[in-house]
Amino acid sequence: MKPVVFNPRRLEMAAFAKVQAELHGSVPLVDMLRLAEGLVSPADEVPAPAHWQASGSQRQVLGGVPEVRMRLQAQARVWLTCQRCLGPMDLELSVDRVFRFVRNEDEAAQLDETTDDEDVLALGRPLDLLSLVEDELIMALPIVPRHETCPAPLAALAAPQTTADVDTPPPCDQHSAESEEAGARHPFAVLKNLKIPPRS
Ligand SMILES: [Zn+2]
Repeated sequence: MKPVVFNPRRLEMAAFAKVQAELHGSVPLVDMLRLAEGLVSPADEVPAPAHWQASGSQRQVLGGVPEVRMRLQAQARVWLTCQRCLGPMDLELSVDRVFRFVRNEDEAAQLDETTDDEDVLALGRPLDLLSLVEDELIMALPIVPRHETCPAPLAALAAPQTTADVDTPPPCDQHSAESEEAGARHPFAVLKNLKIPPRS
């Protein structure tokens, strides 16, 4: 028997699950337009493609229709803009999800509300697996991308801070000047002036 060849762009899910088939592949990030929209690409690096694996399974249910499932895994290394330092940051996205397929949208909506550990989709039209991979990678993106620890500020950013420190008069001078001024208004300031000769 000739093995069935499954097309990831038009996957017949019921058949895929029935023979417990597996598919894997890779997609250039630039081909995933919706995902690529939010990414930056450092000039000195060609982004690696995203990799994905899918495996179908079917479980017989006594007196009912078989349960159809697919495990989908995907990995991609993406570059984003850190929202704290606005520098580029790379991130490994990893997706590992189980989808359960039911007969129609109504059943899917009903089940999806009560199921936490798997996503429920409707069987019907052939599945665009690569689009699903893209959806899942997009959902794996952080809402606010931020370095765990932002890289040390560049020398150009650090310089003004150093200069400011040098330009600021030593705090002691400033403090004593204020004290003397305040002292002048104090009733005992006159006594103090008598006891302590003015500094030269
Ligand atoms: Zn940062």
